[in-house]
Amino acid sequence: MKQKVIVIGAGVAGLASAIRLQHAGYQVALYEKEATPGGKMNRVEIGGYKFDLGPSIVMMPEVYQEIFELCGRDPDDYIPMEKLDPMYRVYFSDRPTEPIDMSSDLPRLTKTLETLNPSDTGGFFQYLHEAHKIFEFARYDILQRPFRRHRDFYNRSMMNKGRNSKIRVLDTADQFIGRYIKNERLKQIIGFQTLYIGISPYKSPSFYTMIPMLQFLYGVWFIKGGMYTMASSMERLFKELGGEVFYNQAVKEICIDDKKATGIVVDGGRIAADFVVCNADFPYAMKNLVKEPAAKGRFTDKKIDKMKYTCSCFMLYLGMDRKYTEVERVHNFIFNEKLDKNLADIFSGKKLEDASFYVYLASKLDPTLAPEGKDGLYILMPVSNVAAAEYEWNDETIAYYRRYILNALKKIPGFERVEEEIVEETCITPLDFEKKFNAYNGAAFGLQPTFSQSNHLRPQSKATHCSNLYFTGSSTHPGAGVPIVLLSAKIAVQELMDDDQEVFSSAHKH
Ligand SMILES: Cc1cc2nc3c(=O)[nH]c(=O)nc-3n(C[C@H](O)[C@H](O)[C@H](O)COP(=O)(O)OP(=O)(O)OC[C@H]3O[C@@H](n4cnc5c(N)ncnc54)[C@H](O)[C@@H]3O)c2cc1C
Repeated sequence: MKQKVIVIGAGVAGLASAIRLQHAGYQVALYEKEATPGGKMNRVEIGGYKFDLGPSIVMMPEVYQEIFELCGRDPDDYIPMEKLDPMYRVYFSDRPTEPIDMSSDLPRLTKTLETLNPSDTGGFFQYLHEAHKIFEFARYDILQRPFRRHRDFYNRSMMNKGRNSKIRVLDTADQFIGRYIKNERLKQIIGFQTLYIGISPYKSPSFYTMIPMLQFLYGVWFIKGGMYTMASSMERLFKELGGEVFYNQAVKEICIDDKKATGIVVDGGRIAADFVVCNADFPYAMKNLVKEPAAKGRFTDKKIDKMKYTCSCFMLYLGMDRKYTEVERVHNFIFNEKLDKNLADIFSGKKLEDASFYVYLASKLDPTLAPEGKDGLYILMPVSNVAAAEYEWNDETIAYYRRYILNALKKIPGFERVEEEIVEETCITPLDFEKKFNAYNGAAFGLQPTFSQSNHLRPQSKATHCSNLYFTGSSTHPGAGVPIVLLSAKIAVQELMDDDQEVFSSAHKH
């Protein structure tokens, strides 16, 4: 008989784990508290406008495609993609009429770099070279493997590889970039991207400077229908393989008997399983779903509260009464020129007076995402998480940030009348991330990937003090971001199967 696995949460990592396990021959049941798949990769629909809720920028497309290929499917039948060039446009608030287009096409990119500061061009390519060395090392030896024991990380082979690639392990992202690039604005354009995983470039290990490198060398992609196509296509694939999904089912507890996970508790009662894979945010799950203190290991409630959390996001979704043909790009970053202060305020919890934000017009590339002849604007502003914020999220705060965004946006050519052109709108605050998805502290990207919360020091997939229990998702190794949590699912499934086969082979020996 097939062994039964329960997966808690239909976020990206939960869906990917469920697919991999179902494909490997387990009988998988997926329990999700919300009504639809995707978790943060969800969709917001208002008055005929369809918005991606969270992730919007597709990087490392081969990782998205891998899950479909594994199951013998053609990814193009599920998630057809196109490459974007230029990838995105950057505006600085004090120079709204001088946008900078960032391209992954070498001659175009070189031209842009020379306009910004000719003497930084060589340094920029040196940065790419160094960041690529980090990636070469990380790609198989870190991003795709678990660290069950410290010696899995601290061993001669890993140390030699690290030494040979001459990676400056202890640099922050900002220091690392600063070694090669002098122009402040170019540094900001590159460094800001550590915010994609919710950490400031001043605190982020240099390791994560590989994120912008991946964009420049491998490009940015768009999936037809937006990111939500990935979520709905993974759900479709899982069902095609025979998996079952139960929506509107909030898991209350992970049952643990004799240091072994044996199932879950939902409103209807207890459901038994041979294995449990938890995609609900690790700190939330350890605190709320794992009730047995001995099964928590070092992740006691006190420890969970003391850990560091990523920033959150304030999201505005605006349905507009026209198409923005004069706005040329799908992805647009509007940086405040006082970006250092902006970053410091996000992480110290101050209400932002100098803020940066991002505007995404998916309906430019896929007109079915808005009513005919209209566009939708998705706006993301990085803000403090709920625990760090020195202010409340109430109607007044929402009105304050909405006003800030619209005032700054009006200075950008094409958006001068943005406020009058809104016909539908809704928003999501850090409190919603906390309530809707059980993101601990409303941290949009989970645990902060500081030095002491990265790689072997980040929560690993296999529970340390309970067998048959595995974790996957942004707060676990290797971290946040769609391709990265897809890899976390790959690790979780491999861990589970390794344990299962070990049991099987030792049972066979007796
Ligand atoms: C605003 C925003 C923008 C982003 N932009 C990008 C981007 O452009 N590119 C990129 O690569 N990444 C981006 N990211 C990051 C990326 O979206 C996340 O890292 C990824 O989607 C997280 O997936 P996950 O599976 O770890 O978690 P989640 O999406 O949080 O999934 C967890 C699931 O568990 C469910 N759950 C929780 N508790 C329970 C319970 N008790 N019972 C049942 N179900 C439960 C939740 O409802 C949820 O569906 C962005 C994130 C945000 C928030």
